[in-house]
Formats: sequence, C-alpha cells, structure tokens
Amino acid sequence: MPQSMNPEYQNNKETTPKVRIAAYPGSFDPVTCGHLDIIRRSAKQFDRLVVAVLNNTSKNPLFSVEERKELLREATKDLPNVEIDSFRDLTVRFMRSKGADVIVRGIRSVTDFEYELMLASTNHQLDKDIETVFMMTNPKYSYLSSSIVKEIAQFDGEVHDLVPPGVEIALKEKYRERKAQQ
Ligand code: ADP
Repeated sequence: MPQSMNPEYQNNKETTPKVRIAAYPGSFDPVTCGHLDIIRRSAKQFDRLVVAVLNNTSKNPLFSVEERKELLREATKDLPNVEIDSFRDLTVRFMRSKGADVIVRGIRSVTDFEYELMLASTNHQLDKDIETVFMMTNPKYSYLSSSIVKEIAQFDGEVHDLVPPGVEIALKEKYRERKAQQ
C-alpha cells in the first residue's frame, strides 16, 4: 500500500511512525499484583515499556536490585514488549538513555497523588520533553503495597493473592534465611 493511503502515516509529516517508549520506575521491593496490573495495562498503551528498578541505597531494601529484577522478569515473561532494567541516576537521564519520553506511575490514593504530583512536576522541570502518565489503581489492589506484603510475609501470613507466585516463594525463603540467622 502506498504510504499516503496507510492510515498510520496520514496526518503525519514523518515518514515512519514514532515508537512510543515508556518507563515505569519504582522500588519494586518486591513486585506486587498492584504493580503487575499497572505493567499489564501500560504495556498495552505503548510500543515498549521499560520497568526500571531504582537502585536507592537509602531505602534499606529486603531484596537486592538483581533479585528484584529477576522477580520482575519472571512475572512479566509473557509480555514481549516489557523490558526490565535498573538505574541509579536521575529518572529523566535514565529515560533519555532508553529513548523513553513517558513516565508511568500508579495512583492508589489522595496521599499518592500529592507525592506523585511533586515528583512529576520536578521531572517535568528537569526535562520539558518528559511527561508523566498516571494509571489509577485497580480497586482490587488499592490498599496493596510492597511494605504491606512484607509486613504480612514476615509473620508467615498468606500473600498468595497479593503477589505473583515467584515472589511468594522468594518471600518465604528470605524470611526463613533471616530467622535462621537470628
Ligand atoms: P516508589 O518507591 O517509587 O514509590 P513503589 O515500588 O512503591 O516505588 O511503587 C512504584 C509505583 O507503583 C508508584 O507510582 C506507586 O504509586 C505505584 N503502585 C504501587 N502499588 C500500587 C498498587 N497497588 N496499585 C497501583 N499502583 C501502585
């Protein structure tokens, strides 16, 4: 089909359609069903989605960056346009290195909104070409956070419906190791 007749090229001065790359940055310590819901929904909206684990030394995480990436890889292995990466830099600089111009973040509550608004405004200030897109939580997971999951798991509570299967196993192992060391 000649390009002029292809709807993808119509009203578009560029000869090739732009590949839309988004990044979903976060701690993911560990990834929960709430995060996964956001990943699945945003993977449908963009050509590529880079899920980026923030290597934040100040947070004293339960899982190492490599463990968090592996758990994310396992949980998203059926999503061909999702890539797992990590960074220890300004988010906007990491985005540039990936060719991404949209930041995806999830919103669960008004409290999330206030923090996320500050973050989005700061990132926009640092790089005007970068937009933040907010995805509303799936109401099923509106209360769910990595911290809640860790609270439950450390006391041997049931997290089966809250995290992907690999994370459930990893949490059990992690707390078993910790108890053995005490
Ligand atoms: P951060 O330390 O950057 O907040 P998190 O891993 O806690 O990292 O969260 C990453 C992103 O995912 C944030 O935008 C957060 O609001 C969102 N998020 C976390 N849990 C949920 C959930 N249950 N539903 C929707 N969004 C969520």
